[in-house]
Amino acid sequence: MALLLVSGLGSPALAETPVVTLASAAPIQSVRPETRPSSVERVSADQDGLEAWVTAFRAKALAAGITAEIYDRAMRGVTYDPAIVRRDRNQAEFTKTIWDYLETAVSPARIRNGQAALARQDAALTQIEAQYGVEKEILTAIWGLESAYGAVRGNTEILSAMATLAYDARRAAFFEAQVLAALRILQDGHTTQGNLRGSWAGAMGHTQFMPTSWQDHAVDFDGDGKRDIWSDDPRDALASAAAYLRANGWVTGQPWGVEVRLPGGFDYASARRETMRLPSAWARLGVRDVNGQPVPDHGRASILLPAGHTGAAFMIFDNFEVLESYNTADAYVIGVGHLADRIAGGPGLAGGWPTSDRALTFDERIELQERLTAAGFDTQKIDAKIGPLTINAVRRYQQATGRVPDGYASLGVLESLRR
Ligand code: CA
Repeated sequence: MALLLVSGLGSPALAETPVVTLASAAPIQSVRPETRPSSVERVSADQDGLEAWVTAFRAKALAAGITAEIYDRAMRGVTYDPAIVRRDRNQAEFTKTIWDYLETAVSPARIRNGQAALARQDAALTQIEAQYGVEKEILTAIWGLESAYGAVRGNTEILSAMATLAYDARRAAFFEAQVLAALRILQDGHTTQGNLRGSWAGAMGHTQFMPTSWQDHAVDFDGDGKRDIWSDDPRDALASAAAYLRANGWVTGQPWGVEVRLPGGFDYASARRETMRLPSAWARLGVRDVNGQPVPDHGRASILLPAGHTGAAFMIFDNFEVLESYNTADAYVIGVGHLADRIAGGPGLAGGWPTSDRALTFDERIELQERLTAAGFDTQKIDAKIGPLTINAVRRYQQATGRVPDGYASLGVLESLRR
């Protein structure tokens, strides 16, 4: 779990590693290009600044119950890493289309490796599923996307990374809390400082928990008294992910979503998160699964068109929102859900994608929001984030101009706004 980001799609890490960090709904703050000059002098000044921050933060840590001995030992060697600050500021630059993302996230190798990983941990996963009510294929899929089933857990020193980002001060309170939680992990002996490693953004272990998520949700599955998500043994981490999803409202037995086909004449304005109906009510409107069958009534559902009306369509349930607690990107949630279905032996997606489209750049997303707002379709924020407010503004623009109101923020919409 984690922190993060990216305007629509998964983290930049996916290309080189399968890690997608999640953003516990932490709002993306202003994403601004790095303007300070990056020089040796600057880094040296920042290292001095970080050390001053460590000295100043000590009283706060001690007041929070960290012992002086732990603080002084653990924080003595923290180093400023300018690359982490750059990545934190620029992460929204990295975007992929959902079809490119899914090609990597749910590749044949990841499906195969997932089936093997599930088989290896079947006894533990069966017990975790019984205890927490989260299906083992979902847990395996999260494990697969977060760390390639434990193979890529990140090697960044967490205390240095979290201290660097706390000192950077753009989201100081959030990262100060991460520093304190990481120190508590050491103080309580759950792992060693040498093991306290993870992604640059602070996500650790097989299922990529932020320190505060560890604090609130990690569990000791194997009963050795340590909530050890860093061990090569993945069981504590898998049980911790289950505990996290359960705490966020996971409904046992309910799908994350089901791929559907929409009928001719479908009212695309109803394909929005706010419009929820039972699958039987959707079936009466002609919305059925890809085999033409009505979807069983698992609970109320909405219709999601992640790439507009020419791409694949999904009927999504409350569990979709629960998975968003791990990472809010639609592409990530669909990646987890579809990978879980494939690990269970299910078929590939039947719907296609508008593959001649490309992802909008950061500047284009800003321009889209500015032009929509100027044209009277207020996005309320100009932040390059294609969230519900921007999607609804796109939809209103499409309705006003006689287009299919699917809310898809495509290059075509931007180009028509420019005309
Ligand atoms: Ca344990």
